[in-house]
Amino acid sequence: MMDFSPRGVYVAGVNQSIVILLGPPGSGKGTVSERLRAEGYTHVSTGDILRAAVKAGRPEGLEAESYMKRGELVPDEVMIRIIRQAFSSGKDMSRCLLDGFPRTVPQAERLEQMLADLGRSVARVVFLECPEDALVVRLSGRRICRQCGAGYHVQFIPPRKADVCDTCGGELYQRADDREETIRNRLGVYNRQTECLVAWYEKKALLVRIDGRNTPDRVAGDVLAVLAKAR
Ligand code: AMP
Repeated sequence: MMDFSPRGVYVAGVNQSIVILLGPPGSGKGTVSERLRAEGYTHVSTGDILRAAVKAGRPEGLEAESYMKRGELVPDEVMIRIIRQAFSSGKDMSRCLLDGFPRTVPQAERLEQMLADLGRSVARVVFLECPEDALVVRLSGRRICRQCGAGYHVQFIPPRKADVCDTCGGELYQRADDREETIRNRLGVYNRQTECLVAWYEKKALLVRIDGRNTPDRVAGDVLAVLAKAR
């Protein structure tokens, strides 16, 4: 099969891979993304792109802001435009990790179409699975330093002195959306959103389920092993 660089130039033997990462908050997506970035994948997080667009006052940010504030999905048209821009930005997209996109079946269909136009396709959809109770323990135990932003966990990465940062002595706090009730709500929203998408990719035999109950490092290792096999 012929390979094409992001600008459409034929490049023989280039290792091409588009990977979609699905997983609820707390399932280890952050660590997996970090490890894949270190492996040379370009990380495309639509949440990060939108937050940057809002901050910079760009048009797509203005369109998206009110939806984001309400925790609702930004319209598909805006999202497709953002993904198109990512693929035509000149960045090396030969190996890339899509994080936060697609979120709905119509978005997945549009992505498939757009990639087909570029002569490309999704290689794997990695779904990090983790029981809700384990996610609640992980998220509700998170603490962040007000001063330097360092991350802790009351059970897994406790500070030496309760509520005090080991590094700078700053006060540790809990994010408002990391409280148990809010977490259960966020997880419910996530499950409803991704259920159809998971089934859609499963039918296409692209979905790989990874056990997200393990440590973040082990989860990231399992994802890399699956992707190595897919090449
Ligand atoms: P995230 O950081 O992935 O949780 O995204 C933050 C917010 O950005 C979401 O709550 C949505 O409002 C919006 N967003 C990010 N990605 C998408 C997407 N693929 N479709 C619709 N809205 C999105």
